[in-house]
Amino acid sequence: PQLANQIAAGEVVERPASVVKELIENSLDAGANQIQIDIEKGGSQLIRIRDNGCGIGKQDLTLALARHATSKISTLEDLEAILSLGFRGEALASISSVSRLTLTSRPEYQAEAWQAYAQGREMEVEIQPASHPIGTTIEVANLFFNTPARRKFLRTDKTEFAHIDEVVRRIALAKPNVTFVLTHNEKKVRHYKAVEDRSLEQQQKRVATICGDEFIQQATHIDWQHDDLHLYGWVGSPTLARPQNDVSYSYVNGRMMRDKTINHAIRQAYGDLLPKETYPAFVLFLDIDPSYVDVNVHPAKHEVRFHQGRLVHDFIYQGVLNALQAQPH
Ligand code: ADP
Ligand code: MG
Repeated sequence: PQLANQIAAGEVVERPASVVKELIENSLDAGANQIQIDIEKGGSQLIRIRDNGCGIGKQDLTLALARHATSKISTLEDLEAILSLGFRGEALASISSVSRLTLTSRPEYQAEAWQAYAQGREMEVEIQPASHPIGTTIEVANLFFNTPARRKFLRTDKTEFAHIDEVVRRIALAKPNVTFVLTHNEKKVRHYKAVEDRSLEQQQKRVATICGDEFIQQATHIDWQHDDLHLYGWVGSPTLARPQNDVSYSYVNGRMMRDKTINHAIRQAYGDLLPKETYPAFVLFLDIDPSYVDVNVHPAKHEVRFHQGRLVHDFIYQGVLNALQAQPH
């Protein structure tokens, strides 16, 4: 509990899209390379995520739904070096407290699958045998059924689904080796097929699928390294500048972030090349020693804090500037 208290408790569940984000991150942490996301009625009726990850053993099913039960950190020092996406052990507990949650799973070492069902704030968990291939399916039905105020805050199905679509897009951009299928009301909406290998060409395929062929054609590839810092990805030519920042994707150690330091550095590198009131288009990944980042500032809100902000800023600025100068205008 002490460790638990030291971990900032943030509100995880804001809307269906935040549930989808947490569940997909769990699937990725479990090593899945196939993730199926089924949505009904913008997620307010049903969110179902099925993966082919490592699964959860029968003995751990109930525990997985308990607050601050995480299999991902055991000591406080680990917090300094968080590499896995999930680490707070509160997503499943939070989600199941505001929905009807069913967790079905089978790890490889278990001959049969088991299903846990949790409902409402009492969090009483029932377990029964089930049928499921290796991996995990989590069904979240009737989100916010017991918190009418939140439920009222939900927008139209179309809007909520658009948020989910964006969450899947952001994650899929960073995980080209994972297949994602997204359905809405039983219609297939997205199918991001896993790329064949880690080659640049294959990675570009996923980026083109999500950001468009035009983006990849008019973008310059960055691969910029200094000491422990590594920046890679694509910066769009200024001709791709947009009135909205809808193609600005930045990631820190694989997590999608909207960070002031990063955005400022990129914007500064574009400088006068960028027309007023427009945003640059980019997909950039920053890898940095985890001990230089504090991701626990606001885990659900995509915020980071760099311990050496200036250094990170200048590194990104230089990398982007170099790439832009290499671009034909
Ligand atoms: P966290 O991800 O922060 O550890 P969660 O509440 O999201 O906490 O998940 C609790 C635990 O349940 C995880 O630590 C993990 O052991 C297990 N778990 C959740 N989802 C999956 C999944 N899709 N596959 C395998 N294990 C999972
Ligand atoms: Mg998690």
